[in-house]
Amino acid sequence: MTALTAFNRTTEQWKQIDTAHHMHPFTDFKALASEGGSRLIVKADGPYLWDSEGEQILDGMAGLWCVNVGYGRKELAEAAYQQMMELPYYNTFFKTTTMPATELARKLVELAPPGMNHVFFAGSGSEANDTNVRMVRRYWTLEGQPERQVIIGRKNGYHGSTVAALSLGGMSAMHTQSGLLPGFAHIDPPHHFQLGWGEDEDAFGIRAAGWLEDKIKEIGPEKVAAFIAEPIQGAGGLIYPPRTYWAEIQRICNEYGILLIADEVICGFGRTGTWFGSFTFDIKPDLMTIAKGLSSGYQPIGGVLVGDRVANTLIEKGGEFYHGYTYSGHPVASAVALANLKILEDEGIVDRVGSDIGPYFQGRLRELSDHPIVGEVRGIGLIAGIELIKDKAKHEFFPNAGKVGTLCRDHSFRNGLIMRGVYDTMVLSPPLIVTRDHVDEMVGKIRRVLDLTAKDVGLL
Ligand code: PMP
Repeated sequence: MTALTAFNRTTEQWKQIDTAHHMHPFTDFKALASEGGSRLIVKADGPYLWDSEGEQILDGMAGLWCVNVGYGRKELAEAAYQQMMELPYYNTFFKTTTMPATELARKLVELAPPGMNHVFFAGSGSEANDTNVRMVRRYWTLEGQPERQVIIGRKNGYHGSTVAALSLGGMSAMHTQSGLLPGFAHIDPPHHFQLGWGEDEDAFGIRAAGWLEDKIKEIGPEKVAAFIAEPIQGAGGLIYPPRTYWAEIQRICNEYGILLIADEVICGFGRTGTWFGSFTFDIKPDLMTIAKGLSSGYQPIGGVLVGDRVANTLIEKGGEFYHGYTYSGHPVASAVALANLKILEDEGIVDRVGSDIGPYFQGRLRELSDHPIVGEVRGIGLIAGIELIKDKAKHEFFPNAGKVGTLCRDHSFRNGLIMRGVYDTMVLSPPLIVTRDHVDEMVGKIRRVLDLTAKDVGLL
């Protein structure tokens, strides 16, 4: 029993207090209140969550794509406890460091692609992406090309919720609400199912990468600083790149000399069956954003892995870099991240995703392709999207993208499975420790939920 369960409030009382005082992220506050408030999650173990009513839920999303080693890991609690007793906080400004921050930097460089020898720590993925913006612009100024300011991202890309991160991202609803900063541009993502259906996938991959070249020419190559993208676009609809895409993106970045930022916040730390999505897709980024799976969500921590090209310039020519966060290299978060990386390594979790449970999960999910409302199943390792469609033969999508996805998500929640709906794509990103039995349970539930959704829209 935790200190808070001792309050002895009913679920209803918790909900009322929450509705009265707590503004949730990405939430319609009024609608949530009118629906009776939030579900109260009280405990978790392995890939399962329990709510305050005692209902068990299989977490097909690993929290928010982050609990890679699963819930209930005593080693991580122990690492946090010991570090809090020894040194709960000290900063890394002003010529000081702490052992966990230093050791985590060393360890990350060991895991990172060759030529990435430095880390800048942040408290989250958004903060890390703000750091990218600062670093990229500083780099070009120091290289004598200060007019290179524009960073190109992708429509429906997600890089975080701060004003700079939402500008890197391509979520138009966020731009409309908060104002897109100047100096950011976006291209369409390589969404074969929606933008290239009927076209050879390899040819489409080259064509989609070409949109970057078009945009560079439109802006003027001398003004473009960098391109940022997720190896697999996650929150924007689980967009899996054709196999020709990344090589062509890489070629274009090289040709125009622009920096390539891989946002590994979702794909990093085993999700795609290798340590980073950049290994899976053979991307050679100059900067990599990391967060989420770095600590399996047990502590808030993010960072940027900085390649030699940028690091050397900042170090050799830069003088003081006026940037940093109170919690950059937080000792407790760093100690937990180290313990988390040790679990991933000691238990061979990343290899298992690549060679065993990942292929099993992908194979079982593809069995759902025969369902009348499933248009496509895509993904790799333990990340997947199931795109729902109204008429397969005619390749006709549902009107009001997102409506059927939300219906399906709600059925899923009610049937004990957390699955996310992004427009009409159902997204899965379970903890990396799931067994074949867990996968079978997931697939069984998904089929039931797809049936319920198809019935609602008159397709079953
Ligand atoms: N980048 C990507 C690819 C993400 O998916 C997210 C969060 N979902 C972020 C950045 C932002 O991370 P945070 O929420 O930790 O700021």
